[in-house]
Amino acid sequence: MAKHKTPLLDQLESGPWPSFVSDIKQEAEARAKNEKGLDYQIPVDCPDDLLGVLEMSYTDGETHWKHGGIVGVFGYGGGVIGRYCDQPQMFPGVAHFHTVRVAQPNGKWYNTELLRNLVNIWDLRGSGLTNMHGATGDIVFLGTTTPQLEEIFWELTHDLEIDLGGSGSNLRTPATCLGMSRCEYACYDTQELCYNLTQEYQDELHRPAFPYKFKFKFDGCPNGCVAAIARSDLSFIGTWKDQIKVNQEVVAAYVGGEIAPNAGAHAGRDWGKFDIQKEVVDLCPSKCISYDGKLTIDDKECVRCMHCINTMPRALKIGDERGCSILCGAKAPILDGPQMGSLLVPFIEVNKDDDFQAIKDIIENVWDWWMEEGKNRERIGETMKRLGMAALIDAAGVPVDARQVQEPRHNPYIFWKAEDVEGGWDRDINEFRKRHQR
Ligand code: SF4
Repeated sequence: MAKHKTPLLDQLESGPWPSFVSDIKQEAEARAKNEKGLDYQIPVDCPDDLLGVLEMSYTDGETHWKHGGIVGVFGYGGGVIGRYCDQPQMFPGVAHFHTVRVAQPNGKWYNTELLRNLVNIWDLRGSGLTNMHGATGDIVFLGTTTPQLEEIFWELTHDLEIDLGGSGSNLRTPATCLGMSRCEYACYDTQELCYNLTQEYQDELHRPAFPYKFKFKFDGCPNGCVAAIARSDLSFIGTWKDQIKVNQEVVAAYVGGEIAPNAGAHAGRDWGKFDIQKEVVDLCPSKCISYDGKLTIDDKECVRCMHCINTMPRALKIGDERGCSILCGAKAPILDGPQMGSLLVPFIEVNKDDDFQAIKDIIENVWDWWMEEGKNRERIGETMKRLGMAALIDAAGVPVDARQVQEPRHNPYIFWKAEDVEGGWDRDINEFRKRHQR
């Protein structure tokens, strides 16, 4: 029987959706009966006390978690977030309730053996409660005690060869979409770049030395399955330089109703006959498509929003000259409101070691600047806003480009120098790469 009465939490189970309260109750009951026959290494009533402290927070209208405290594993500064309850006598099972961040596999590819091994560790040494996945992308283990931290770390890294993720003022666990492993729209190998940068920046990931947190995210195309543009300090978003490939016969098949638009995603509801004018041409944000029995795209005006391709995926394909754009400065609303990333590098190839090195040079230039200029607990997007985009562009060492604007057709915040106006991006990026070749 439950230790604590939880009338407020119980209401959260009444809606049509799965409830985290039911999940915690299920775990509390399983532990009370010791259904798994485990020699639990943290208090057995931990999930029960978690319900109790949550109910108390709802009643009091304030949290009963004390944030932080220095707790972690030897040699790492991040990966564990200390949590202590301010009512330990009443809820001893959650007196310590530390969160452990675990780096998710690249593109979140698991096999069942890995999942089983992860939960086996957590059943024995933690609350059994997880969050798959946290907002940054990590596997989040919710709630354990200080003496268990080194044990968990040893078993994760030695037995499963999986690392802790980032927390605090360090590089957070880089996150990527499935990329080329499943998606025909991937303009570069997101998993390769994510893996390469994760290996390169192990120090930055585990030893907090930045003014505040810093996130990399890798989207293979502008559909943005990991929402890099909104959630990462430096986002890498796949794009292409040449034309969208159009197969006019297949366009005609969409228009004639032989193929369902949106890959049949709207099947089951009657949306009426597909209307290419209304559903594609009129919705193109840069008004660069026309249809008069033949689909024409003015590619130099296309902003790569993906809408036309998503609607008629069998007729339209991404171009062949592929790479990524790099944007800087997205963040959540803590200070100054939320911010999307601003374009720093319009296009860079991501194929060879040289390309990876050019990307690393940009990253390190940006970090050097931010570590010099950033205030304590200031995201790079805030530093950028405070000192100006031009300062960031200078520091990054990338050429100035007309596309580095706050938003299209509005308020370019670049101060142009005479030498920037002559010549194009291609010349400048090639010079930049030559300068930075090691
Ligand atoms: Fe227009 Fe977007 Fe298609 Fe480009 S990708 S042509 S901007 S709808």
